[in-house]
Amino acid sequence: MIDVDARGVVEFTQALVRIPSTNDPARGRNERPAAELVEAKMREWGWEPVVSEAAPGRPNVVAVVEGGGGDGPTLMFEGHTDVVTEGDLSTWTVDPFGGEIRDGRLWGRGSADMKSGLAATLYATRALQLAGPFPGRIKVCALADEEGLMLGAHHFVSEGLTAGVDGAIVAEPEAGEICAVAKGALRLRVDLTGKMAHGAMPQHGRNPLEAVGSLLVGLRALQRDLQARHPAHEHLGEVYVTPTVLRAGSEEQVNVIPAVASVFIDVRTIPGAEHKEIADRVAALAACGGITADVSILVDRPPVDVPVSDPVVAALAAAHRSVTGEEPVYGGVPGSTDGTVLTHWGGIPSVVYGPGGKWIAHQADEYVEVEEIVRCTRVFAEAARRFLNGDH
Ligand SMILES: [Zn+2]
Repeated sequence: MIDVDARGVVEFTQALVRIPSTNDPARGRNERPAAELVEAKMREWGWEPVVSEAAPGRPNVVAVVEGGGGDGPTLMFEGHTDVVTEGDLSTWTVDPFGGEIRDGRLWGRGSADMKSGLAATLYATRALQLAGPFPGRIKVCALADEEGLMLGAHHFVSEGLTAGVDGAIVAEPEAGEICAVAKGALRLRVDLTGKMAHGAMPQHGRNPLEAVGSLLVGLRALQRDLQARHPAHEHLGEVYVTPTVLRAGSEEQVNVIPAVASVFIDVRTIPGAEHKEIADRVAALAACGGITADVSILVDRPPVDVPVSDPVVAALAAAHRSVTGEEPVYGGVPGSTDGTVLTHWGGIPSVVYGPGGKWIAHQADEYVEVEEIVRCTRVFAEAARRFLNGDH
């Protein structure tokens, strides 16, 4: 087994958690100090990271570590440096940015999602490098804004940095499951425009709220139809069409029929469901009886469906088996990750695997088992060795 710096990876995770890298401009916070810490660690090891801003002050940090062992594939390790807000402090029993270790767990915002995973990618690559020459190379990437619009991953793709990459391991917390599939997300905004009128004389207006009613009923039927046509995926479950925001009228103006009503819809898809077709069907449902409907696509992240036979998945599964002594468990990512962007827009097969529980992300008292960080670092190092040597 490749020897990893167990103490180093845990301490580096603590140092990352102690940086409050939420994207919160009002408090002067973003992921930059965390990205700088990653960059400094890379330089300490003699790597030459390239820093490129995905948005002003929001850097991606990318280092290419050449194996020096001849021709071979390129493996990408990916992590993000931003975290979601800590939320209401009174719901935490630990300091969210303390990086405290207690009861074998490392606590704090980002401990699972995904500073431990990011640290594991760095220390795994370093361990492999110190173990001797290897074929090909590893691209170690710490990207910005995964929790927002995934600006970091989109920027990475737009800079052409996916060229020549043969596979990516995304270190999100998946409780040790190997997730080569991820749900798709389609977020829509529907603006229904009618004609404003006095509530006492509705005959002179066209009420968009009535169109909202039929749209909501129609969305139920659309969901039933999609679920019937696309049976539940073994790892991803069902397609969902969920209205989440409704905006119309004013509480101060109960006697006014508003001109416009807006409905926001969060659609979650599985492989096979076409986003374009779903958006078109929502548009058809929304247009009725003198009300015009405009459908805007706010977010369009297709589902990911990488076969388990893909070399990057196979190498990871073989590494999991040899390091943990356990059979790999395959799962699915309920949301989307930077892997969605890398696979769909960058054309790279991606797989998600990392330390920390699937459901602990974004919650109060987030934690990761210390032992899991070290084990995952070993799995990453072994997965890289196998992938780059074609041994899977
Ligand atoms: Zn994450």
